[in-house]
Amino acid sequence: MIRFDQVSVTYDGADRPAVQGVDLTVPEGELVLAVGPSGSGKSTLLGTVSGLVPHFTGGTLAGRVTVAGRDTRTHPPRELADVVGTVGQDPLAHFVTDTVEDELAYGMESLGLPPATMRRRVEETLDLLGLAALRDRPIAALSGGQQQRVAIGSVLTAHPRVLVLDEPTSALDPGAAEEVLAVLQRLVHDLGTTVLLAEHRLERVVQYADQVLLLPAAGQPPVLGDPAELMAR
Ligand code: ADP
Ligand code: ADP
Repeated sequence: MIRFDQVSVTYDGADRPAVQGVDLTVPEGELVLAVGPSGSGKSTLLGTVSGLVPHFTGGTLAGRVTVAGRDTRTHPPRELADVVGTVGQDPLAHFVTDTVEDELAYGMESLGLPPATMRRRVEETLDLLGLAALRDRPIAALSGGQQQRVAIGSVLTAHPRVLVLDEPTSALDPGAAEEVLAVLQRLVHDLGTTVLLAEHRLERVVQYADQVLLLPAAGQPPVLGDPAELMAR
């Protein structure tokens, strides 16, 4: 579903690549974790999948990233939006409406779906994310974990086959982080969604990962880690 072929990204004026030599194949329905310290290139790597890199960030992408067969260098984000959904670290930056239900509906706005389909997708997403009781609540009044679930839900109503999340649990307490991770697990297992997740710490998430890409500090190539072995550490 996602393929990285010798992918390196170098921002203009930088003396070394932000991402160097990533080679990775992600089959449909896998959860892949990219782990590394701040500045190790996690966001950049995710951006090569959503198309933000290099279309909106500048810099040079060497090698090739394909998502569902589309080369992300020749397809800007709007030409990937039907396949890739992206969720950032700060859910508040994501929201454009006031209530939970409106926010989930907004995620489909540009797809031209019939109203009945949109209503059905809102319902199924509210259920999937355990948000049904909160549907009319102002997003601003929700907890951090609930807000992050709404941010994920607003992307899911478009039914993306690939979901890319940049440190979605880093601002959350352990309980709320578990809720978000449980949602991701359900997506992978029940719907076959492919998930690419960046985190700066391994512990919370490694148990859910099919593959782990370890991004070392700047200047060194990433390595694939064995989830079982990393869990045992
Ligand atoms: P992480 O997500 O692991 O913190 P990033 O991908 O954000 O890592 O950053 C990797 C490196 O690339 C850092 O040195 C950062 O300063 C640099 N960088 C990130 N985005 C840009 C950009 N748009 N232009 C120039 N340099 C950038
Ligand atoms: P429509 O595609 O017309 O909206 P449904 O909402 O009934 O029809 O969804 C069609 C199928 O998509 C269902 O089998 C459902 O399980 C599945 N589905 C639900 N949520 C998602 C999702 N987030 N990503 C992909 N498929 C999903």
